[in-house]
Amino acid sequence: MATKQEGGCSCGRVRYSLGSPPMFVHCCHCLRCQRETGSAFVLNALIETDRVELLGSAPAPVSVPTDSDQSHLIFRCEDCQIPVWSEYGGKSKLRFVRVGTLDDPHALAPDVHIYTRSKVPWISLPNGVPAFEAYYDSKKLWPAESLQRRRAILS
Ligand SMILES: [Zn+2]
Ligand SMILES: [Zn+2]
Repeated sequence: MATKQEGGCSCGRVRYSLGSPPMFVHCCHCLRCQRETGSAFVLNALIETDRVELLGSAPAPVSVPTDSDQSHLIFRCEDCQIPVWSEYGGKSKLRFVRVGTLDDPHALAPDVHIYTRSKVPWISLPNGVPAFEAYYDSKKLWPAESLQRRRAILS
C-alpha cells in the first residue's frame, strides 16, 4: 500500500483515513455477514482504532445479534446509514473496517477466507489464500509484526 487509504460513507459525512496498512484482512463467508451486508461475504481490514483517523463526523454504533456471547457493533453514518466498520466483543481498540468503503476498494485483498462452510456456491476461492471452514488460529497465520501490533492493543 503506497499511499494512505481513505474512505467514507456514501453521503460523505463520515470520512476516515487509515494511518497504516491493516494487520490482516478477513473475507468472512458466514451467514451473519451475508445478511448484514445483503451480499455474499464481508471484507474486513483489521486495524488499530487509533490508526483510523476521523476526517468527518463519527459513525454511530448499532448493536446487532450474534451467534455467540460476543457483542457486535456496526458503526453507521448517522445520515445515509452506510456501515463503515465493526467492533466485536467489546474490543474497542480494534476496528474491522469495511474494505468496500475505501475510496480504492480494490486496494486490499483477503489474507484469509473464513466460515467457508456457508460460502455461496458460485464463488470459487483462489489457490494460495488460506481458507477455513470456520474460524482459524491467527497465531499460525498472521505475520509476526501484525501479531505484535495486536498484542499491543489487546493485552
Ligand atoms: Zn453518510
Ligand atoms: Zn462473518
